[in-house]
Amino acid sequence: MTKNQESKVLGELKRILIIGSGGRENSIAWALSKDLSIEQIYVWPGNGGTSNFKKCICLNLKSDDEQTIIFECKKLQINLVIIGPEIPLAKGWANKMREAGLTVFGPCKEGAQLEASKDWAKNLMIENNIPTAKHWTTHSEEEALKILDRFKQPLVIKADGLAAGKGVTVCETIEQSKDAIKETFSGKFGSAGNKVILEEKIKGPEVSIFALCDGEKLIVLPPAQDHKRLLEGDKGPNTGGMGAYAPASLINQKELKELTELILIPTLKGLKKKKIKYIGVIYAGLMLTETGPKVIEFNCRFGDPECQALMPLMGEEFASVLFSCARGELEKAPQLSFKDSCSACIVAASKGYPEKPQKGDQILINSESKPSVQVFHAGTTLDQSDNIISSGGRVLSVVAQGENFDQAFKLAYDELKQINFDGMHFRKDIGYQVRNI
Ligand code: AMP
Repeated sequence: MTKNQESKVLGELKRILIIGSGGRENSIAWALSKDLSIEQIYVWPGNGGTSNFKKCICLNLKSDDEQTIIFECKKLQINLVIIGPEIPLAKGWANKMREAGLTVFGPCKEGAQLEASKDWAKNLMIENNIPTAKHWTTHSEEEALKILDRFKQPLVIKADGLAAGKGVTVCETIEQSKDAIKETFSGKFGSAGNKVILEEKIKGPEVSIFALCDGEKLIVLPPAQDHKRLLEGDKGPNTGGMGAYAPASLINQKELKELTELILIPTLKGLKKKKIKYIGVIYAGLMLTETGPKVIEFNCRFGDPECQALMPLMGEEFASVLFSCARGELEKAPQLSFKDSCSACIVAASKGYPEKPQKGDQILINSESKPSVQVFHAGTTLDQSDNIISSGGRVLSVVAQGENFDQAFKLAYDELKQINFDGMHFRKDIGYQVRNI
């Protein structure tokens, strides 16, 4: 089918709105901007790097409620809305937008519970025989401490709700488990800790797998691996992610197919059994244990920074595929191809990240555009003179592709030398599993 014939089948995709302001949304905008048939990509609120890409601009809105966005989408004749972050998904923005007649890529509020409630996700896994770590859902500190007392081993303590990636404590001792239970119940993560999940501690390398879903069917993307800890050697506090790479060689094509059958398809079926038409990304964070793969978390959107490593691998059909998912007709989409290269992403963070990120520093980027290197912005903004200023903890990422990971990471680290801001720091060992360092 030619591109023209495809667009007749799918309807016209000319104007897109991406909701979000991070590196994930910046990289999605970049990937979509490659599609020649798309006229305009708005990003709300976007960041200091949004307008670096052809056809991409920040949408300025007076108010940040979903009704204002819906009104604006209609005015701008937006054909596709992509909701990047989990909070608007958990709040039901996709429901409201669909009710208003918009075409949306991102799950409804009910489906977003996959990420917004660990208890709900655990039950879905149990009901559908999806392998996961043993767990107890507790409603009071007393109940949780009793379970810990009976189990007599350090546990993983998880706030049930959304806690910006900070609600999980992996405990080394029983004492630490007690403290984490007390802290979580005492409101450290707000209402996210009203219920607390105690989880058996499991061991093994971690890998993330992703599916794009249209409510009925799914397609699987290359697996990725990220680095959550702040410091080299996977030490220090957990962060939103200091880097990632894809495809993760930890699982081969055959294993990915098996994981799709074991985890992704049963998850989508389980959602369907609950009458949830899940349109969007199912992200499963896995641990490959000695007794087989187990799910340690679900996200209801692309993970960041994994998304940044993945976007340069997407074939030019990507926009059409997202559009057909959003319309519930994945069968009409062209087959999504993936570039046969290795993609590396390194996050540059600001001083004080993750506890107290310093903001307001000018960022100097002295690089020329290269086909296999991308600079994706996250915590950046533009001042009145169009200087790029840091505005968050994870400031930007350099992503590069090569024939192998040695090449990709070399390109990315070389490019980082062209970027500078006060207190900039990054890990020098991202992807140590797949390259020579
Ligand atoms: P999550 O936010 O659920 O992805 O958890 C953050 C990190 O905690 C994961 O990337 C794992 O390294 C670790 N983790 C989560 N659950 C477990 C578990 N049951 N056993 C061991 N480590 C875990």
